[in-house]
Amino acid sequence: MEAREYDIVVIGGGPGGYVAAIRAAQLGAKVAVVEKERIGGTCLNRGCIPTKTMVRSTEVYLAAKGAEKYGVEVEGQVRPNFARIMARKNEVVSTLVEQVIKLMEAHRIDIYHGVGTILKPGLVRVRADSGSQDLSSRKIIIATGSVPAIPPIPGTDLPGVLTTRQLLDLEELPKSLVIIGGSTIGLEFACIFNALGTSVSVVGRRTFLKRADQSLARRLRPSLVRRGIKVVIGLTFKEIVPADGKLRVVYERKGKEEYVEGEKVLLATGRWPYTEGLGVEELGIKMERRAILVNEYMETNIPGIYAIGDVLGTYMMAHTASYQGEVAVENALGHRRAADYRAVPACIFTSPEIASVGLTEQEAKEKGIDFQVARFPFSASGKAMALGETEGQVRIIHEKGSGKVLGVHIMGPHATDLIAEGVMAIQLGATVKDIAETIHGHPTLSEAVMEAAKAGAFGEAIHYRKI
Ligand code: FAD
Repeated sequence: MEAREYDIVVIGGGPGGYVAAIRAAQLGAKVAVVEKERIGGTCLNRGCIPTKTMVRSTEVYLAAKGAEKYGVEVEGQVRPNFARIMARKNEVVSTLVEQVIKLMEAHRIDIYHGVGTILKPGLVRVRADSGSQDLSSRKIIIATGSVPAIPPIPGTDLPGVLTTRQLLDLEELPKSLVIIGGSTIGLEFACIFNALGTSVSVVGRRTFLKRADQSLARRLRPSLVRRGIKVVIGLTFKEIVPADGKLRVVYERKGKEEYVEGEKVLLATGRWPYTEGLGVEELGIKMERRAILVNEYMETNIPGIYAIGDVLGTYMMAHTASYQGEVAVENALGHRRAADYRAVPACIFTSPEIASVGLTEQEAKEKGIDFQVARFPFSASGKAMALGETEGQVRIIHEKGSGKVLGVHIMGPHATDLIAEGVMAIQLGATVKDIAETIHGHPTLSEAVMEAAKAGAFGEAIHYRKI
């Protein structure tokens, strides 16, 4: 079989792989992408986009249900139509996937459908039902992503025990749902299904949102409980068993055996880097458990083979996968750029949203940094009041003396958009005074970031004083 020649072959067409491919094409390279399922990967097809589309449906529903509060009368019954919500989600996903494919075609990127295996450095075989094709390439980028992790709990193979992928394919709204795992993804689904009327329980082994600023994570928990979500943390799972047409999740807590039941059980216990069929072991690519190891230039121990995104098992977010894709491509094409992780935002699309960047208070303490925390509550923001969404606050962790911004943590309306200012501040090495003296539009939620910065820089915000 004659191999087709490329400068770069990317294996995996998710937000890591397709962004890397587009960037490589922009830099003048001849590029191929190998994808075994659908372009867009987890993010577009069964992750970020479908979940956020569902979040939007719940926001519209809750706004309509609570319309009276805003002086709007709604006649008749407001209720969610699960089939339509899922149909809209599928439509948004398909439109976006088509757009990405068109973008790749516009950059003259060849897409091969099939499983990519690296036979040796510089040679990839694509295996599809229709046959095989070899691709020779100066550089190879592995962007094969991750799959849902299955915890070692007896009963995870029972019908009705679902991964996030299967949950997103449900055709009927479950009456009750037990979510195993107090993770970002678990809590996002808890908010979505609770809003739609499902009775939701979240059960987890350790702390809630363990990587988030704990003062905000602690505030989210009572907020979820107030809306009727049952939350039980600090337990050891025993098993999942069928019980009267439901599924019973049995666990031990404080020495006592307890359980919760649900029509469906969601496993939201993290994700495993995915390398099946790639040939990493045969090639001798260095791994740590399931994850591929790379240096700061995104190169593996085998020269010419790079790896990016979830397969590295580190950040496991779409924006870091894309960022690493761009870094890998630049290095593969002869530039020199090290990955810089000083300012990586993390966005949690719960209700209210939580977003953070930089050091948490706990991390600053562990590093022995002399720091202060400046705060501003959304209850004092004019725009938040107008929106009727005053829960939450902005917290800026900054170095005592210099005022350098070390971390920004936001819980509240549009926190996931507002965090961009914190990301920029950390990336540019800004101080709280820099943010405090920057004019922010009025009335906007971003003023809350400015006000928190004023509290940090000048000891007090303008629009808030703790009485
Ligand atoms: P993936 O997107 O997983 O893409 C890898 C691709 O490689 C897949 O399409 C796969 O089919 C293909 N592939 C694998 N092996 C081969 C092979 N040998 N040959 C050919 N093709 C192969 N992240 C965020 O930043 N924000 C969010 O809001 C967010 N929400 C999420 C919600 C859910 C429910 C889930 C599950 C994830 C969410 N994520 C979110 C995480 C995000 O989806 C991932 O971090 C991101 O998709 C990783 O990108 P990637 O390109 O590394 O891998």
